[in-house]
Amino acid sequence: MKKVYIIVSLLICVFSFLISIRADSKKFGIIIDPGHGGRDGGATVNGIVEAEVNLAVAEELKKVYEEKGYIVDMTRTENVDLCENTFVKREDMNRRVKKINSGNYVFCISIHQNTYSDSKYKGAQVFYNEKNHSLNKELAEGVQFSLRTYLKNTTRTVVNRNNIYLLNKVTIPIIIVECGFLTNVEEAHQLISSDYQKKLAYSIYYGSRCILDKSLF
Ligand SMILES: [Zn+2]
Repeated sequence: MKKVYIIVSLLICVFSFLISIRADSKKFGIIIDPGHGGRDGGATVNGIVEAEVNLAVAEELKKVYEEKGYIVDMTRTENVDLCENTFVKREDMNRRVKKINSGNYVFCISIHQNTYSDSKYKGAQVFYNEKNHSLNKELAEGVQFSLRTYLKNTTRTVVNRNNIYLLNKVTIPIIIVECGFLTNVEEAHQLISSDYQKKLAYSIYYGSRCILDKSLF
């Protein structure tokens, strides 16, 4: 009888351990970087301020990841820049980089909006830096595929960029999602609507599953 008791206790211990591993597997952090903010509005087109759109999309994205059980951090949660005194772009960027690199995050998604001199251009596009992390390309392609499939607003493909400060300095997997063009009137209207921001958030989430599914490390 004592033997049975020991075996059952052992099985319960092993089972609880396995359950705790599974539960922990969902506790990986993700960090979202809403581009610009505060004294740095980013692009402003017809009264639409990029930094505000970035934050709105980032907040929707945070909700989606949290709904799926992930822990989410943001480099900013309000309309502020990250500088203490005078605004210096490099200082703002360095503070973002430091926050992203110092946490235990699986990856970072930086949210931006695009502009171009010709208003006919539209569509979401993902930037990454192939050299900085072996998963960057896969994450970028996953999200671009998802944006093409669910948003149906683009036929664009990912762009490998080695001259973007954030992509060069961050050491975890990171992509920049340019959600669309503020200079395209039709797309700008979509980008400020909460329904479209939700669609964007779900598209980015589903696109990032390729990395989340293998993140049991
Ligand atoms: Zn931007």
